[in-house]
Amino acid sequence: MVTVGVIGGGQLARMMIPPAVNLGLDIRILAEQEGMSAALAATAVGDYRDLDTVLAFAETVDVITFDHEHVPAPILRELQARGIPVHPGPDALHFAQDKIAMREKLSEIGVPVPEWAAVTNADELSAFLADNGGAAVLKTPRGGYDGKGVRVVRSADEAADWFATLDEDGRGGALLVEELVDFRRELAQLVARRPSGQIVAWPVVETVQKDGVCSEVFAPAPRSAGRVAEMAEQIALTIAETLGVTGVLAVELFETTDDRILVNELAMRPHNSGHWTQDGCTTSQFEQHLRAVLDLPLGATGCHDDHTVMANILGGPTEGTLADRYAAALEAHPTVKVHNYGKEPRPGRKVGHVNVSGSDLDEVAYQARAAAAFFQD
Ligand code: ADP
Repeated sequence: MVTVGVIGGGQLARMMIPPAVNLGLDIRILAEQEGMSAALAATAVGDYRDLDTVLAFAETVDVITFDHEHVPAPILRELQARGIPVHPGPDALHFAQDKIAMREKLSEIGVPVPEWAAVTNADELSAFLADNGGAAVLKTPRGGYDGKGVRVVRSADEAADWFATLDEDGRGGALLVEELVDFRRELAQLVARRPSGQIVAWPVVETVQKDGVCSEVFAPAPRSAGRVAEMAEQIALTIAETLGVTGVLAVELFETTDDRILVNELAMRPHNSGHWTQDGCTTSQFEQHLRAVLDLPLGATGCHDDHTVMANILGGPTEGTLADRYAAALEAHPTVKVHNYGKEPRPGRKVGHVNVSGSDLDEVAYQARAAAAFFQD
């Protein structure tokens, strides 16, 4: 039996398990701790920053992939040196691990990005602010997620604490500063690419964030047919091919008020903006990721319905579990599909999501929001 090894035990690894079962694949997880979301599959527990731990795990599988971007490149290169396939590989993953490297690379290959600079002190930040209308977005290049490590600044003083800790581990020696993009909405484009080159795209989607965390996804993005969809797809295909990404690539985009499409972020793994594909598409992002990392033919990405809306369940109930709410929620919303990550409810935490499809966008959006509301207080 072919065995896929996933580093990281969160919900993304968990959601690879059903398609692995369907395809008759063995899937093993290297989780950060006991009892994580993906512990339904055979799970080893250990530190993904420790070479011996990762090597011991990798020796039990045929291919290594990830549910997060944080495994250090030297460890991945060592796996490759020992003949263990790693997808995406460290050369591509670098651009999802470091936002400054990503901005540099995308600028170099001509992909549209916000105005940006790497800054190491207050004077450089002040100069950027002066050139960009007095406001900017400052980001730590490494280790950020869900808006952590992102801050709007209007003066260099507001960055003093980050500059003071710049040399500490993980900060990368510089901060990324960007123009404060005047965007109409945020979009995401998912593609999947296999090592031998086949590449497929799903329709571009609109993502809505609340406090820096994705709350809803509309698929396909309303009013995107034609130019917007073509630009988004072309950008993601270019990035996947030029950077040699294998597996799923998610490209987070801004649609600006003056009708430009700019790249915000890259993720080289299944992504929250693709959860709708589980119930809305012929091939889900999780199945596609497995097929891609095994270099199997990729599946069709067509949609079952005109619209699918995904709503995240953020925080969950203040008492009890999601399952305690099933009887009422499923009774009220028979068209809704619930995905429960098996995580402890905690304020703001992503503990599950719902997907709903149909032909009337307002109705589908209403059903998704109302169903998600059953699971959060
Ligand atoms: P993370 O990697 O933590 O998710 P992102 O770089 O994706 O951080 O930024 C999180 C959110 O902050 C984005 O979804 C967007 O809403 C906002 N944001 C990020 N960069 C900019 C920018 N240059 N201009 C305006 N808003 C931004």
